Amino acid sequence: MDLYSGYINKLIDELASLPGIGNKSAQRLAFHLINMPEAKVQRLANSMVQAKQNVRYCKECFTLTDSEICPICKNEQRDHSTIMVVENTRDLAAYEKTGKYKGVYHVLHGAISPMLGIGPHDIKLKELMERLSGDQEIKEVIIATNSSLEGETTAMYISKLIKPTGIRVTRIASGVPVGGDLEYIDEVTLLRALEGRVDM
Ligand code: ZN
Repeated sequence: MDLYSGYINKLIDELASLPGIGNKSAQRLAFHLINMPEAKVQRLANSMVQAKQNVRYCKECFTLTDSEICPICKNEQRDHSTIMVVENTRDLAAYEKTGKYKGVYHVLHGAISPMLGIGPHDIKLKELMERLSGDQEIKEVIIATNSSLEGETTAMYISKLIKPTGIRVTRIASGVPVGGDLEYIDEVTLLRALEGRVDM
């Protein structure tokens, strides 16, 4: 027997399919939404659809942005000869928050994971190599993938690909806790990891 209306059940199912939201949270959110003024619910729904329709990958670094080229890649004050490779846009945001990194980025949108069946072709790796071969100005690639097994595997793989090009490849220091998600690490630790980076 269904305790709730079909509409509420559907809403709970949709919410529960989001990452980090279990069935209890989904129920709580669903009832919260039902009790919100309709205009507010409409605004929330609109912002979701608009974000989905308008956000895209930057043509250069593949971060999520509203325009063809993101503000970081567009910025001529940034050091375009240094590229930091991160797993996702949240990691990029973590480094940007420190305000100390002046280079540009490359966002992989994932990490190599044989266990999950994620291979080199499933992340933006080909795009990174194309970028490196197309730009003679690039002097250093800093690999800032997470220190998880997947992050380390990805770092090794990228390093092997880049080495023959003669471009310097470095890895952020292991001050970042093992298995640590970059976005949860404080700015001081991030900066220390960046400054203590070592050649691969
Ligand atoms: Zn960009």
